[in-house]
Amino acid sequence: MAITEVKVPDIGDFKDVPVIDILVKVGDTIKPEDALVTLESDKATMDVPSPIAGTVKEIKVKLGDNVGEGSVILTVEAENTAAAPAAPAKPAKTAPATTPAPVTAAAPSKPATPTPAGSYSGKVDIETDMLVLGAGPGGYSAAFRAADLGMKTAIIERYATLGGVCLNVGCIPSKALLHVAEVMDEAEHLKAAGITFTAPKVDIEALRVHKSKIVGKLATGLTGMAKARKVEVIRGFGSFIDANHIEVETTSGDGQDKTGEKKVVRFQQCIIAAGSQAMHLPFLELNDPRIVDSTGALELKQVPKKMLVIGGGIIGLEMATVYSTLGTRVDVVEMMDGLMQGPDRDLVKAWERQNAHRFDNIMLKTKTVSAEAKKDGIWVKFEGEKAPAEAQRYDLVLQAAGRTPNGNKIGADKAGVAVTERGFINVDSQMRTNVSHIFAIGDIVGQPMLAHKAVHEGHVAAEAAVGQKSYFDAKIIPSVAYTHPEVAWVGVGEDEAKQAGRKIEVAKFPWAASGRAIANGAEYGFTKLVFDAETHRIIGGSIVGPSAGDMIGEICLAVEMGADAVDIGKTIHPHPTLGETIGLAAEVAHGSCTDLPPMRKK
Ligand SMILES: Cc1cc2nc3c(=O)[nH]c(=O)nc-3n(C[C@H](O)[C@H](O)[C@H](O)COP(=O)(O)OP(=O)(O)OC[C@H]3O[C@@H](n4cnc5c(N)ncnc54)[C@H](O)[C@@H]3O)c2cc1C
Repeated sequence: MAITEVKVPDIGDFKDVPVIDILVKVGDTIKPEDALVTLESDKATMDVPSPIAGTVKEIKVKLGDNVGEGSVILTVEAENTAAAPAAPAKPAKTAPATTPAPVTAAAPSKPATPTPAGSYSGKVDIETDMLVLGAGPGGYSAAFRAADLGMKTAIIERYATLGGVCLNVGCIPSKALLHVAEVMDEAEHLKAAGITFTAPKVDIEALRVHKSKIVGKLATGLTGMAKARKVEVIRGFGSFIDANHIEVETTSGDGQDKTGEKKVVRFQQCIIAAGSQAMHLPFLELNDPRIVDSTGALELKQVPKKMLVIGGGIIGLEMATVYSTLGTRVDVVEMMDGLMQGPDRDLVKAWERQNAHRFDNIMLKTKTVSAEAKKDGIWVKFEGEKAPAEAQRYDLVLQAAGRTPNGNKIGADKAGVAVTERGFINVDSQMRTNVSHIFAIGDIVGQPMLAHKAVHEGHVAAEAAVGQKSYFDAKIIPSVAYTHPEVAWVGVGEDEAKQAGRKIEVAKFPWAASGRAIANGAEYGFTKLVFDAETHRIIGGSIVGPSAGDMIGEICLAVEMGADAVDIGKTIHPHPTLGETIGLAAEVAHGSCTDLPPMRKK
């Protein structure tokens, strides 16, 4: 059989591009179109496909070699020499396509094959390589990454500012208020150290301004960063017309008032980042100002005397913390058998002990069944284990019973993008939907609905869109309740592992033995690490106590790096810090902790 040389085909303007991956080895049997090597220019990565079937005889390039059109990559003993083509095949360019991209089934690592544009043939106002729908943390991060990687990028956002739920009505305003509440709580605790302050006076208007200033500062920063990257921001409500066009009904003002004007944007690739919105109970309409969701609660229109929080999850408990510190008495109703589903129960118990003073009633295994707005308040009826017999009166009712994705509101079907009944969009590990040039990220693709997950996914999608071999392969995603104290957890929990019958080793360091925790009045806290009993590698961890959220990142890194207790325990942590409790918990795991009474020999 004849030996055929496979050469780099015409790759456009690119000369001397490095080989960044060799995808076959001598002896491999290959088929036409099998990727042989990956080349990377400053604009794109591209796989060079095989023009023939046969067996790889010799590889003529090595990693890092610079090649251009005509460079010999390898030799192949062809299966059938008659089938060998006269000209080498075109490489599969995975960077921004110059023709509209395809509507094919999702194929994570395969580049898009150009196909004709969608069905729309009308006027087009804006053309772009990458179009991002929604400017939340996922959307703007994806857009900025795409622009940094060389794509002409535009982003559609219905509101006046970038940042989405997280910046405008979520993570940031809630943390601004939680910080104020924490300082107020801490000032009160200083009584025990002989320091007393006069009772705080709350100027609610000034507090609102303080919160808005923080949000405004960050929003201005985002606008500047979009400008610096030449990311075009299109203000309006976007809806797909087909798989390559989105129609934008432009909006103006502070809200989403439509101007009546429409624009059509044609895109090569798109990232859907349209997020989620608060779920509302059918009998709790928001037309009464005393019934709010988290957005309404963050507006801080009043400090009510008595408040009901529906839903004992993170968002509900964070808002309960703020309002209770400002002077509100709080009831919580939760259908499940415990508050804060997610972390191990021992952390929640420690949290509950510190927070018991905030609540009049915690109604577990109970649901809200009706509400009646009367002059003197909202009268709410409950059913379940802890339901009071009579309707209860509240000055404010917060619905924090979860969030629902916006997948069914963007005309996704017109682009052929599949959306589940609940409004989620399924994606593969490169964040591609079933339409391979349309990606989706953030809350709209599923739980956990967290900003840091959205940002990470946004980067993966943008990198995959330019042809990089980027995948969402994070082992873990941390969660934090920014309450007082904070609760942070990541990876496999002790409760979950025990329920699943998984063999684990658990090491706990009580903060009662931490000098810093005692000095800070936080000796109730603890740090817990979970190790796999066979490999001894860390698989999870959790912390309850002040700054738990700032410390959990170290445990995340340890899990991602496959660290064991010795790696963590022998890493010198600064003393005296709350962070050193992670190192100390690892020492507990391998039996070398000298900050606790002698451990029993195993
Ligand atoms: C009160 C509260 C506190 C939170 N605190 C935290 C926290 O501390 N840490 C954390 O990690 N997460 C927190 N979250 C969750 C976090 O806000 C979300 O996970 C995150 O914002 C999701 O980002 P995203 O980019 O997917 O979508 P979103 O932030 O929801 O952004 C989507 C954007 O798309 C826009 N959009 C939607 N449809 C269209 C359309 N058709 N046309 C144009 N624009 C459109 C929306 O206006 C929005 O700006 C909190 C959420 C809430 C409500």
